Amino acid sequence: MLITKKIRLKPTTEQEILFRKSAGVSRWAYNFFLGENKRIYREYIDNGKVGKKSISEGDVRKYINNVLKPTTHSWLKEVGSNVMKQGVKDANLALQRYFKDLSGKPKFKSKHKDRPSFYVNYESLSRKQGGFQGEKIGFVKTSESLPKLNKNEKYSNPRITFDGKYWYLSVGYEAKENTVELTDESLGIDLGVKDLAICSNGKVYKNINKTQRVKNLEKKLKREQRKLSRKIENNIQSYKSNRSPVYKRPLKECQNVQKQNRLIRNIHRKLANIRQNYLHQTTTEIVKTKPSRIVMESLNVSEMMKNKHLSKAIQQQKFYEFKRQIEYKSKLNGIEFIQVDKFYPSSKTCSCCGNIKKDLKLSDRMYKCDVCGLVIDRDYNASINLANYEVI
Ligand SMILES: [Zn+2]
Repeated sequence: MLITKKIRLKPTTEQEILFRKSAGVSRWAYNFFLGENKRIYREYIDNGKVGKKSISEGDVRKYINNVLKPTTHSWLKEVGSNVMKQGVKDANLALQRYFKDLSGKPKFKSKHKDRPSFYVNYESLSRKQGGFQGEKIGFVKTSESLPKLNKNEKYSNPRITFDGKYWYLSVGYEAKENTVELTDESLGIDLGVKDLAICSNGKVYKNINKTQRVKNLEKKLKREQRKLSRKIENNIQSYKSNRSPVYKRPLKECQNVQKQNRLIRNIHRKLANIRQNYLHQTTTEIVKTKPSRIVMESLNVSEMMKNKHLSKAIQQQKFYEFKRQIEYKSKLNGIEFIQVDKFYPSSKTCSCCGNIKKDLKLSDRMYKCDVCGLVIDRDYNASINLANYEVI
C-alpha cells in the first residue's frame, strides 16, 4: 500500500537558498511549457488551423537543454537536473488532464500565490542517520527519520515544499501491513457538527474548532484580514490623490500590504497545522483500539453542502481528510473498513429494539424510542447502529 509521508526539514541557510532557486526553476519550467503551448496554439489558429496544435514535453525539454541552458538561461544549471524536467512534466500532465476533461485549465504558477515546491530526483535520494542525501542539495537534516525501505526499494515522487515558514519533504513509499492482534469489536463512527467523532465504544472526540486556541486564532485572522482591506483602501486613496510616494509602486506590491499578507498566510498555516495534527492524533487513537472492523457513513458532498452547518463542518473539521486517514490507517493495520450507504437509517433506528423513528428531526439531540423507551444521545445511537451494520 502506497503511503505519503511529509517530514519537516532543517536546512542550512545555503540549502534554503538552493531550495528557493529550485522552486523558482520548477515554477519557471512549468510556466514555460504552458506558455509555449499557448503560443503554438495561437499560431495554429492564426494560420487558419493549419500546422501543429501543441508542442510535446520532450521537444520543450530539448529546447531548454540545448538552446536556453547553454546561453541565456545558464542559471538552470545551479539546481538539480531533474527539477526543470519535472516542472515541464507536471505542466504537461496538467494540460493532458485538461484535454481529457479531468480538470480545469492549468494556470500559470505565481511566485506570490502558489506554494514553492520542487521535485527531488528519487534515484539519488537516500535515507541517512538524522536526515537524507539528495541530488545537488547534499545532506539535509530532518526533524524525524525518513520511513525505512526494503532493499532495492526507492521512495516515489519525492518533493520539497515550503508552507510559508518551514520546508518539508514528502515521499511516497510502500508500507507493509502490520500484523497486530485485533479484537472482535466492530466500531461505528458517527461524524458530527457539535463533536467531531462519536464512537460506538463511548469515546467522543471533540470539535477542535471549539477550543479557545482555535477560536482565538480565527478571531485574529478576521482582525488581520480587516486590517489588510484597510491598508489596500488607504493605498488606493493615496494612489488617487498622488500625495504619497506609495502611488509610484503597483498597489499589491506595496510593502505594507505584502507584510500583512505574510501575517495572514502565517495564521492560515497555523490553523491548518492544528487541524491536521488533531485529525492524525484522533484517527491514530481510534485505530489503536484495534477493532476488527470500522464502519462509517459514506459522505455525500452535495447532500451535506445543502445543510449550512454541515457544509461548514466539512470545511473546518475536514470530514474527508478524517475518512481518508481512517481508511488508510485501517488498511495498514489489517482492519476492515466499511462505508455504509447514505440510505441506511443510522440516526433514525433505535439501537436497542430496531424500531425506526420516522419523525426524528435534525434538532433532536436525544433519541427517545417510542417502542422500548430507550433514551440515548442521538449521535451515540447512530454510532452503535453503524457498528451493528450487517453487510448484505
Ligand atoms: Zn427502541
